[in-house]
Amino acid sequence: MLDAIEYQGSSVEAALTDSRHTRNCHAVHRAWALDAVLTYLAARARHEAAGYPVTFPVTTEWVGLSRLRQPDTRGVVQYERTAWCRRYATLDGSAREIWIPSVGSAKENRSEAEIAAAAAIAATGVPARGSFGEPYQKVDTDVVKPQRVRIIGVGLADGKPLVLADWDAEEAVRQFETHAKKRYAAVLDGRALRPGSDCTTCEGLLGCTALPEVPGLLGAPAPRRPRKRRSVSISDLRAYKSCPARFHLTRTLYIRDGRTENEAIRRGRAVDAWLNGRHSQAARIPCRNVPLPTELPGLTEEELGPAVRMIKKHHASCPLDGLPENELVRTQWRLAAYDPVLDTVVIADPDLLYTEAGGWVWRETKTASRRAWHGRSLLSEYPQLALAVLLLAAGVPGGDPRQSRIELEILREDGSVCEEIDPFDQATRDEARKIVAGLATGWANDEAYSPTPGEHCGDCEVRRWCAVSGVSR
Ligand SMILES: [Zn+2]
Repeated sequence: MLDAIEYQGSSVEAALTDSRHTRNCHAVHRAWALDAVLTYLAARARHEAAGYPVTFPVTTEWVGLSRLRQPDTRGVVQYERTAWCRRYATLDGSAREIWIPSVGSAKENRSEAEIAAAAAIAATGVPARGSFGEPYQKVDTDVVKPQRVRIIGVGLADGKPLVLADWDAEEAVRQFETHAKKRYAAVLDGRALRPGSDCTTCEGLLGCTALPEVPGLLGAPAPRRPRKRRSVSISDLRAYKSCPARFHLTRTLYIRDGRTENEAIRRGRAVDAWLNGRHSQAARIPCRNVPLPTELPGLTEEELGPAVRMIKKHHASCPLDGLPENELVRTQWRLAAYDPVLDTVVIADPDLLYTEAGGWVWRETKTASRRAWHGRSLLSEYPQLALAVLLLAAGVPGGDPRQSRIELEILREDGSVCEEIDPFDQATRDEARKIVAGLATGWANDEAYSPTPGEHCGDCEVRRWCAVSGVSR
């Protein structure tokens, strides 16, 4: 819709009502897009009203092109740096702007490298066209070199433009040399395998040594019609279970209205982040020998107390306590496995992995305000554990599977408990298989993602755009 308005001169009204633009969209996606277009255009107007010079949309991509006479040591003859963005320039071409939209608010924590990389493309990029699988070709036009470049983040929920860089061209090049150049080199020369959701588009997926194949991992039958390769996590499947539409919008399209999460979720996250920070330190100091935090990001003063009391309860079961120096500790290490039956990359993010006596221990840490868990089993209360059972039983992440186990640490303000789960216990595995298959079966075949309204609509991030929400607005 923005292309129609900004590149083809369509009126806003005509673009919003032209059904061709949204013909393949979910109804909630379409409703969101209609809002997002208006919010984006309002942000552009707001930026101009703040005194910045008027800029106009630029259709042709800017590409940082370096052509070499002969292949370098990497065997490359042409380097191309591009930026995902919308482009604008003043009429005389002396100033260029790169606008980077975000779904909620403009991202405030973009790295210096990312901002410098974008600024360099604005400052030195040439208008170029590329087609799939072909090198970019410079477009032959007499282009004015810009003197000024601006990088602007913009939130599609709040419509606030955020100027991330406002530099003259020389400064942009300097920033690139200082912050971005070495990052590009590291990426180009990187050979480490880090499996994850990106694997879905990788041509080397089959036979990749870092992505173990576990046929039938999700336990669901193959879809009736072939579909694009997907990736999925247990959190995705839980979201699907509560409402397929909500899953599709928030988990596949990453659309959210930017609301802040409730206290329990923020507290859990803050406790996790603090523990991860501790456990990932090179010096392995058990948490009991470290002062308790006096503040935690994202929590208010009143919310801090309960979180700190939970961290204190972790002292009883800190995995670093007495762990020999030669054992490995990995915080936030993403695990992935490929289920060929569903053509799906399955993702898991254990809170902590560490080795012990040749096997891997998978530690999940949960914060809870209450003691009981509805009398349900641990695996059905925390289905990540069910997937953990299946992955460890299948030999992921490796090591001696017989020495592998799962630990569930539950931290409350007034106590803690650390349960052990054996992935090789037959009854446990049967239960895990049933839970994971129960979550995956509906998801595997769904193509419509219809909303299932209910109580959960109360904290739904896309309710604003949903026509059948179960809760009054
Ligand atoms: Zn610890």
